[in-house]
Amino acid sequence: MFKIDYHIHTNYSSDSDSDMENMILSAIEKGINEIAITDHVDYHVSYEPPHYDDLISKFKIMKEKYNSKINMILGVEIGLENSLADTINKFINSYSFDFIIGSSHSVCGKDLYFDNFFDGMDKKTAYSLYFTEMLKNINTVEKFSVYGHIDFISRYGTYNDKTLKYYEYSDIIDEILKTLINKNKGIEINTSGYRYKLNQTYPQYDILKRYKELGGEIITIGSDAHTPDYVADHFEVAYEMLKKAGFKYISRFKKLNPVFEKIN
Ligand SMILES: [Zn+2]
Ligand SMILES: [Zn+2]
Repeated sequence: MFKIDYHIHTNYSSDSDSDMENMILSAIEKGINEIAITDHVDYHVSYEPPHYDDLISKFKIMKEKYNSKINMILGVEIGLENSLADTINKFINSYSFDFIIGSSHSVCGKDLYFDNFFDGMDKKTAYSLYFTEMLKNINTVEKFSVYGHIDFISRYGTYNDKTLKYYEYSDIIDEILKTLINKNKGIEINTSGYRYKLNQTYPQYDILKRYKELGGEIITIGSDAHTPDYVADHFEVAYEMLKKAGFKYISRFKKLNPVFEKIN
């Protein structure tokens, strides 16, 4: 079976100290066939131009060096924020990416981790706003491949019970999934919840299953690893979920176009 890890950070992301080469070596050791380097670009945090030119030089050297052992594709994880759509679209169009993860790391300009987004808001209001803004993001930023960790808000929530149940937000989540499907965009299964001891993938199974029921077919798997030890972490769980939900394929990307690979 063709194995991918399509969500990997290196020290070109401000929250990782890991050299790209060590991430690659870990992926090779774990039998991964193709990885996407997806370092962060978050314009709501910093308007400084990301160091993507440096990253691309390094990427090319590494790709050449490990060519016989692993495929590497150039990706990015870009924080989607509809108020910054022009800046984001301009960045995306400046480079020749194979794969783009669009993620919600902020809502209405407030970073979910660094800013006080949740202050004075009950959980239902905050989570609903997160999804409403996500729908706007999908409609204002055109060129991304998959939406990253769709229900990640439940990781950041400052509530005693942070959990998010699909059925409580099913109207807006369905609207999001249908819009993604209509625009030929996928979702990722992000396994980083295990690293945070939250024992879940993002999205949770119910949302993955709903994407499939509504006709969605484009799925990538990503560890969101920031250190080599977490490359491909808990992927067996992701594959089991995919099979249970009825998926027969995962997607790779070439120049932003999906290529389907059968799941055994
Ligand atoms: Zn992310
Ligand atoms: Zn990430």
